[in-house]
Amino acid sequence: MNDRLLIVGPCAAESAAQMEAMARSLASVLAECQSFAPVLRAGLWKPRSQPSTFQGIGAQGLPWLTAAAAAVGCPAATEVAQPEHLLAAYDAGIRHFWIGARTTSNPFTVDMLAQTPIADKPSVTWYIKNPTSPDINLWCGAVERIRKAGYEHICAIHRGFALGEHTTSIYRNAPVWSQAIEFKRRYPAIPLITDASHIAGKAEHVAEVAEQAIRMGMNGLMIEVHPDPQTALSDAGQQLTPAQLQDLLIRLATIDTAEQTDQSAELTALRQQIDETDDELWALLCKRLDIARQIGDYKRKHSMAVLQSARYDELLQRRMQWAKQHGIEPEAAKQIMDIIHEQSVLKQL
Ligand code: PEP
Ligand code: MN
Repeated sequence: MNDRLLIVGPCAAESAAQMEAMARSLASVLAECQSFAPVLRAGLWKPRSQPSTFQGIGAQGLPWLTAAAAAVGCPAATEVAQPEHLLAAYDAGIRHFWIGARTTSNPFTVDMLAQTPIADKPSVTWYIKNPTSPDINLWCGAVERIRKAGYEHICAIHRGFALGEHTTSIYRNAPVWSQAIEFKRRYPAIPLITDASHIAGKAEHVAEVAEQAIRMGMNGLMIEVHPDPQTALSDAGQQLTPAQLQDLLIRLATIDTAEQTDQSAELTALRQQIDETDDELWALLCKRLDIARQIGDYKRKHSMAVLQSARYDELLQRRMQWAKQHGIEPEAAKQIMDIIHEQSVLKQL
């Protein structure tokens, strides 16, 4: 039944009263929800970009978090970025730790966490968020470092990527689903969940990202919830109210995504069409590369540079515009065009 994980709770623990209120409302929302196994989250040490903002309450919040988790009746989880965080949280009885995106990006820090002496490693579960940039090897490297240190229970969290101006995503972090798909391909046995809140960045987008993740076959979600989001000291705009969480869980409960071995004639026929279309697509790609080779010969004969940036820019803009009109993400169109163009340039060389 509840084989999907739900890491849920406020961005940060702020006060004993906030965590008590959180526990009360989560207990009633989760009592109605059988399709997820919950873990209560709250950040104590917050890796904020700006030093002038709330940096987390620190170890002072440990008893608030453990008491709230006990009241909800589920495990507690917090983010650790330094060995002292890990040791303090472990001593307080916490056994679920997530490594934030900024920490995953630094192999030295991940190693320091992995090497921190913990008495009962089998009791610990690690959740490793993707790094801030879409670098699959960096993400997998963090998994390997934790695994090599002797931990058995490892999950991963897809929280999107900071692409700055290089994205057309409407969200705070670009999902780049291809990274999640590649992670699943490399580690089919490691549960991978989606942090819909940090991808979305706005409460109004959390439900759609969560739904996409579940339909995609992800193994669960991380969702930020606050008893009164407007007053939150961090990530106020993206935290759901308990009532919004309840609506979302009801919506998600109707989605059934067991990995199907559906052999219906309809699905088989559609898959056949996909295979045939792929054959045509690849034949066209070969044709395109052959034309590129001929253009390369022409440019060599006439002493022209292979890379004609203005021409590529024109092609790219036209294709991205076309993609938009046809309901394809311009960013995805750009990535595809960049690969095709790179291969054409190599062929011309
Ligand atoms: C968080 O989960 O509170 C957090 C800071 O996440 P991320 O590392 O994904 O930014
Ligand atoms: Mn947050």
